Amino acid sequence: MLERDVMGKMETATTIAAHVAAGRRKAVAVCHEALGRIEDRDPRFRAFLEVTPDYARPRAARVDADLAAGKPAGPLAGVPLAIKDNICTTFGHTTCGSKILKGYVSPYNATVIDRIEAAGGVLVGKTNLDEFAMGSSNENSAYFPTRNPWNTDCVPGGSSGGSAAAVAAGLVPLALGSDTGGSIRLPAAFCGVVGMKPTYGRVSRYGLVAYGSSLDQIGTLAANVEDAALLLTVISGQDPRDSTSVDHPVPHYCEELRDAKLAGLASGLRIGVPAEYFGAGLESETRAAVEAALDVYRRLGARTVEVTLPHTPYAIATYYLVAVSECSSNLARYDGVHYGHRTAHPRNIIDLYSSSRNEGFGAEVKRRIMLGTFALSAGYHDAYYNKALKVRRLIKDDFDRAFEQCDVLAGPTSPTPAFRFGEKLDNPLAMYLADIYTIALNLAGMPGISIPCGFSETGLPIGLQLMAPVFGETVLLQAARLYERETEWYLRRPPVTS
Ligand code: GLN
Repeated sequence: MLERDVMGKMETATTIAAHVAAGRRKAVAVCHEALGRIEDRDPRFRAFLEVTPDYARPRAARVDADLAAGKPAGPLAGVPLAIKDNICTTFGHTTCGSKILKGYVSPYNATVIDRIEAAGGVLVGKTNLDEFAMGSSNENSAYFPTRNPWNTDCVPGGSSGGSAAAVAAGLVPLALGSDTGGSIRLPAAFCGVVGMKPTYGRVSRYGLVAYGSSLDQIGTLAANVEDAALLLTVISGQDPRDSTSVDHPVPHYCEELRDAKLAGLASGLRIGVPAEYFGAGLESETRAAVEAALDVYRRLGARTVEVTLPHTPYAIATYYLVAVSECSSNLARYDGVHYGHRTAHPRNIIDLYSSSRNEGFGAEVKRRIMLGTFALSAGYHDAYYNKALKVRRLIKDDFDRAFEQCDVLAGPTSPTPAFRFGEKLDNPLAMYLADIYTIALNLAGMPGISIPCGFSETGLPIGLQLMAPVFGETVLLQAARLYERETEWYLRRPPVTS
């Protein structure tokens, strides 16, 4: 394969928006280039389930026309974005990577979509995911697996693997994902990009197809921390349509990253290092890269403190009871009547429900519905679901105690870099363990970010995870930016091959 150039040449969202706002570039031209890159390069990775040029081009023209008419430029003026396909859009389809929603067209936009468009963003398509966001590798997509742009034999991570690959491959500068147990941070780590999961309630979930409602949160995938902050500022804030979104002031996160704001910050920063995130199972190259990142912080004057999150060993079991219970209830709505696929010749109403669901859902989704139905059933909910809720509280208490001693926590995002296709497919438990460092944070409702912090010997990216207390997005982004300013990992991009 021939190496032509390096994907890093794509402009950042911040630069594009500044150029478009100043009239130096046209949104139509930026959109045209993004669609061209997708057409050229996406066939190798298949990050997109659907590209929507007929929707994107007129939207871009509209951004240009509004500017020409003297309307103020939005913060995302002319920026092309990709959307994970479990976020409802009236353009294109919303399939959730599932056959049961094949061809489904949403009658409404998710709140985040309206906010992005009001800010001048141009949506170019819907990205691939594990079916209903259940998975860690993208292999559970009912359509096809997305490939990792760094090595197409490897998974991009999941479930927002399409969004992460689209940014890593330089197709678009920004994408939306959703994170129920790590689905933004894990693919960000595997693809070498920045992935942020906000505090539960920071971003409206209206129009995000529900998986585990008490865990799900929409977040950003970006090529650098500033772009992540830009998109977060646009999508954050209370929404009357989502009662779990919180009325909490939204800072201008980009302003908080200015050099003047960061000056002197490192010397007062306390970084907690949870002992449980560095135990057996953490692969040595990943450990070395994360420890080197901690050294960077120390060199900047930050203090690292050893902390402990003693209930970490129960996080996987707790998550896989809470998440599957909520999913079994949320997915009851796909019955062959309300949405999507309906079996062809049902014998009676029961057969209509069961055959439609049997034909429409994939194996992992069925496994989780069955587990969740069991965990919630009359004889067992005290032993499983209710017990899991109690442990969830203990896990949150662990974080609260740790944050008494530090401002942010730091550790690996994943125990290993991206694995190969098929490696964990036959062993769901091994697959679930890929989430070992990400899921506890969702149970606690707190924000986290994965940023590139190195590469394995085989050339695969490694992610550093930072975590902060509830509504600690500002310090989280600032800590991430402090590291990013000192290193160049985030500038590396996979080679373009033809
Ligand atoms: N891999 C985890 C799961 O399968 C997390 C998925 C997610 O965050 N959506 O549930």
